[in-house]
Amino acid sequence: MELYYKSTRNAEEKVSASQAILKGLADDGGLFVPEQIPHLDVDMERLAGMSYQETAYEVMKLFFTDFEEDELKNCINKAYDEKFDTKEIAPVRQADGAYYLELFHGATIAFKDMALSILPHLLTTSAKKNNVHNEIVILTATSGDTGKAALAGFADVPGTRIIVFYPRDGVSPIQEKQMVTQKGANTFVVGIRGNFDDAQTGVKRMFGDKELAKEMEEAGFQFSSANSINIGRLVPQVVYYVYAYAKLVAAGELTVGEEMNVVVPTGNFGNILAAYYAKNMGIPIGKLICASNDNKVLYDFFATGEYNRNREFILTTSPSMDILISSNLERLIYKIAGEDAERTAILMNALQTEGKYEITPEMKAALKEFEGGFATEEEVADEIKKLYENTGYVIDTHTAVASRVYREYGKKTGDTRKTIIASTASPYKFTRSVMDAIDSGYGAMSDFELVDELCRISGVKVPQAIEEIRTAPVLHDTVVERDGMKEVVKKNLGIG
Ligand SMILES: *Cc1c(COP(=O)(O)O)cnc(C)c1O
Repeated sequence: MELYYKSTRNAEEKVSASQAILKGLADDGGLFVPEQIPHLDVDMERLAGMSYQETAYEVMKLFFTDFEEDELKNCINKAYDEKFDTKEIAPVRQADGAYYLELFHGATIAFKDMALSILPHLLTTSAKKNNVHNEIVILTATSGDTGKAALAGFADVPGTRIIVFYPRDGVSPIQEKQMVTQKGANTFVVGIRGNFDDAQTGVKRMFGDKELAKEMEEAGFQFSSANSINIGRLVPQVVYYVYAYAKLVAAGELTVGEEMNVVVPTGNFGNILAAYYAKNMGIPIGKLICASNDNKVLYDFFATGEYNRNREFILTTSPSMDILISSNLERLIYKIAGEDAERTAILMNALQTEGKYEITPEMKAALKEFEGGFATEEEVADEIKKLYENTGYVIDTHTAVASRVYREYGKKTGDTRKTIIASTASPYKFTRSVMDAIDSGYGAMSDFELVDELCRISGVKVPQAIEEIRTAPVLHDTVVERDGMKEVVKKNLGIG
């Protein structure tokens, strides 16, 4: 049976999976959602014995129903290969009572690799299936990790070009170095003077710009999105929650059917939404715990039912979560609004014009399985230090937000269900913040001295992704104002 995707803002728009992947965003500005979330059709005993790639196929075939078996397997095998430094792809590491699901073993050592290593293949396959001959231009706004992971995924993929915008003063030095040293003739990296929301807003505006679309079409280009709103990113993220549950069953840590909780350090709401989809597919997930840093819009939303982005934007040590507009939340809003596109559109319009909206009590009641939490900068640093001192395990700042929220939640509720913490980046990606948390005496060391020190204290080998930027030359140095984004895109494409 074919599964179609519809827009969260318009009941009339309905497309196939491959079309949804190609388009990224619906014409009306809404996000594509599956008409229903499919139920897993393999039993847990079989899943428990499957590799990551096999699990990925079992999950994705249910969502991407217009892909042939060999097309999908081909995408999966090209994505989850030796680019990952472990055969398990997403290993689970137990420390201090929790299960850290390590999603950072890919090419750019952050969890974005889990989806962005497969998206280029899903996209080029989708283009072929739909007889698209235009060059596909990936336009992306990044809070740090998406950019590099997308660049790495798309570099030198024929028929594609990628343009990445990042906030000049809002990413870590290592994140910036990773991006501006990106190779590949089809890659283009631009810093903007503004924050992540400015970058994301600018990108969204270009996606909705009909005139620009026309000029591009005439020149043989079309946009697509690698941002986490693309269904081709969301679905691959569902896989690792299914996989993690199955692996815990295989290891005897969970019995089949026993509920586990999931804590996710959240920014754009993509990763935790994937966990929600996994739950809806039949994985016994209890609470979905949404962990925020000081930019705690989501925490406030779950507490009060009001989403309000009118507040100060705070730069934290977990920059990939420094976000005030969590785009993927729209998919959840749509769901709790009873799949009412008109109502969703009204709320999203209010967010755009007034910067806020409020959901009804009935909608709020439908959020019971979610729990919000947040951790301050001090708590994040304390969490990294304590976990290291107690167990020797070093986590990054984003993971530490979730880890701290997990502990606070446990204390507050007494909920003792086994818990997966989504571990979204390697500590090597945020070395300075991590090392400062462990010992305030590291201030004088350079970034790469700190990398070697982290290796010494953790016993974890320095990842390839870090080794290769030690000496790599800067290849991208364009910086623009936030209202200069469109100009720079047109220039790169040689139009207008
Ligand atoms: C992107 C990112 C997040 C936030 O994930 P969302 O899907 O946007 O909620 C958390 N941690 C790290 C390290 C990230 O790169």
